[in-house]
Amino acid sequence: MVAEHNEVSGYVNEIRDRGQFSIGRSSTGSQAHLASCNNTSNFNYKRDRNVADYASKNVHNASLQVVRNASADPIKYLIKYFDIDATEEKLAEIESIGESISRLEDAIQNLELREASISKTIAPPPFILKHYLNEFRAQVGLSVPRLTIPYPEYVFQYVSASGNSSQESRIELNSPAIDSLIETLSEKIKWSKSAAAQRSLMTSALRDFIKSRDKYTCKTCKVSTDDEAHLLLEVDHIKPISKGGLSIETNLQTLCWKCNRTKSNKYDG
Ligand SMILES: [Zn+2]
Repeated sequence: MVAEHNEVSGYVNEIRDRGQFSIGRSSTGSQAHLASCNNTSNFNYKRDRNVADYASKNVHNASLQVVRNASADPIKYLIKYFDIDATEEKLAEIESIGESISRLEDAIQNLELREASISKTIAPPPFILKHYLNEFRAQVGLSVPRLTIPYPEYVFQYVSASGNSSQESRIELNSPAIDSLIETLSEKIKWSKSAAAQRSLMTSALRDFIKSRDKYTCKTCKVSTDDEAHLLLEVDHIKPISKGGLSIETNLQTLCWKCNRTKSNKYDG
């Protein structure tokens, strides 16, 4: 059990290293590094405590109104101010980020279930798990990867001219936010009458559907969640997107993480 846990743990690091977790940028301040700004007033030396962040590409500096609207209507403002074009290429890029994120979320959740099972088998006194979790993991030989997920984060920031006040709206692209971004963008593509959106959208809902259609069984090795309670399943493009494969139900299948990794290594090589 520990060995299997540690294999999945290594896989989590792999997804993190290989996956795509970033998109879009704001053009505000793209040339800000060419100038420096100093507050030279003699009074109120604290005025510079709110300084606009132009260095980070995921921060958009905007008026207070835009910052407020962005928190009310995050996806719309994200698309508009971070130059996320309504094109098929951009849609595919976002879907690929959505896949990386959901794979990482699933793998981390799977790892937590495995660790819970291992703890249950060993059944240490509760205070051990509460106060000596790391020592317990070391004793058992559990390797634990970084369990945080690098969700892309976008910030709308307002800093007043005097630097006395600032306000920001943060948008974290977790799975539901990415699904919503995918759906909004595909609607825009339909509006512009492109050939897009004839295919299915790679959202969490479609991945769940494919797994249930395939009865939670790996199409290659035939192992199912009935055989292995903690089986980690993924949705695979039978013909990869990089080879022109489409996100349509007939080109999607359920694979266990091991078979999926073997398959993608074959295609990468
Ligand atoms: Zn398999």
